[in-house]
Amino acid sequence: MHTVLAACTQAIARAAAGRKVRLLAVSKAQPTERIRALAAAGQREFGENYVQEAIDKIDACADLDLCWHFIGPLQSNKCREVARHFAWLQSLDRAKLVPILARYRADTQPPLQVLIQVNIEDEAGKAGCRPEHVPILADLVATQPRLRLRGLMAIPTPHPDPAQRRMAFAALRTLFEQLQGRHPDIDTLSMGMSDDFLDAIAEGATLVRIGSALFGLRTPARK
Ligand SMILES: *Cc1c(COP(=O)(O)O)cnc(C)c1O
Repeated sequence: MHTVLAACTQAIARAAAGRKVRLLAVSKAQPTERIRALAAAGQREFGENYVQEAIDKIDACADLDLCWHFIGPLQSNKCREVARHFAWLQSLDRAKLVPILARYRADTQPPLQVLIQVNIEDEAGKAGCRPEHVPILADLVATQPRLRLRGLMAIPTPHPDPAQRRMAFAALRTLFEQLQGRHPDIDTLSMGMSDDFLDAIAEGATLVRIGSALFGLRTPARK
């Protein structure tokens, strides 16, 4: 029994009101022992932001058969490691990376499960592709047999006003539903973190990414 995990799972289930919403435990800057404690309590999916840190933990937890998601900013020189070590990539944001990921995903592995990260409020300097570029990028992913398009991810600005916060989630959901018109198989809308996951679920999230609410605050901060 892991009381924090149980409380988190319950809060998600209550907000989801009968829908299925997955919990991704964001374990960046957390030691392997804490990952093991959550895994022992039944948590299977973990998210990491930094490639080398992640690979060390993936190796250290290889006996546990966990499902790892890469959720951090991705440079082309890290695509090989991400394609080799992760089950999911949530932060694809440009076309250039698609052939590189496909080249390094081995035939012996299942396809890499891909979410396109969207800069939903279209803010300068923020990660994610522009909303109007999503269809082209999605079509490109869908042409690659070693990749499998599963949906969208975003990290909206944490507005203090709940109504504003929900507007960004609602916009992402609309974009997701439009994309389902072109790609009927997509099923994953990744939005909501420790401070706003209830709002995200109310607006249709199917996967929430939770770090500090599960693990406690991260110290020290990493780059
Ligand atoms: C760190 C991180 C999270 C988790 O954030 P918390 O506020 O600690 O829950 C979720 N998504 C991404 C992309 C992150 O980098």
